[in-house]
Amino acid sequence: MKKLLLVFVLVFCGGCLTGQADRITQTSTIDALLAGAYDGQITCRQLLSYGDFGIGTFDKLDGEMTVLNGKIYQVKSDGKVYNPAGDTKTPFATVCNFKPDIQFAIQSADFKIVESIINKKVSNQNQFLAVEISGQFKHVKVRSVPAQNKPYSPLAEVAKTQPVFEMNDVTGTIVGFRTPPFAKGINVPGCHFHFLRSDFKQGGHILDFELSSGNCRIDKCSEFLVILPKGDLLKDIDLSKDKTEELKKAEQ
Ligand code: ZN
Repeated sequence: MKKLLLVFVLVFCGGCLTGQADRITQTSTIDALLAGAYDGQITCRQLLSYGDFGIGTFDKLDGEMTVLNGKIYQVKSDGKVYNPAGDTKTPFATVCNFKPDIQFAIQSADFKIVESIINKKVSNQNQFLAVEISGQFKHVKVRSVPAQNKPYSPLAEVAKTQPVFEMNDVTGTIVGFRTPPFAKGINVPGCHFHFLRSDFKQGGHILDFELSSGNCRIDKCSEFLVILPKGDLLKDIDLSKDKTEELKKAEQ
């Protein structure tokens, strides 16, 4: 019996030390993406080895990525959902192995209210959160971006002509993260959410939504791993300036 107990403790502590359950992993930085670093760096297959839940984009900025229950979904600029091949690359994505710590119901709330509810539930603003909200939505407004050709325009320019899609009375899931202010320049501070309809026919980067009723699950993450592009990809990009205003134009 003692031997058996020891084995369990070792396995448990091993898990703690590697921190896999609590680790967010991302490729590149949001400011590099804003500057036009759209060339894919790691494959979807590789990305899934870092997590089963998350958001991002694809090589050449070809649509919006949502990772849910270990599957990657690609919403292209026609607003439809595709299943990308395992060797499709991503220049920017954020994933974790989703293990919710808390969950609660939310009734009749828009994006701002949902954000304030989450901020009240986890008042430590310096805590990374993975957030999943499944439910019935009165309204969801999403966008997806079209694939780009070189020379790449900055993301704020691309976003000016982004196709926007509106859905009414749909069931689906919000997937995303709440990122602390101190991670500015690396990821998107605050809540960054993507949406997938439950029939997997539509989705995208959320601009706005109105939730009728849903269940919110939150994974508090204490580790944050950034995988930078190999080689000289970032060499000629000036990442010294504050890009807060550019980010607003690109994400909202
Ligand atoms: Zn997005």
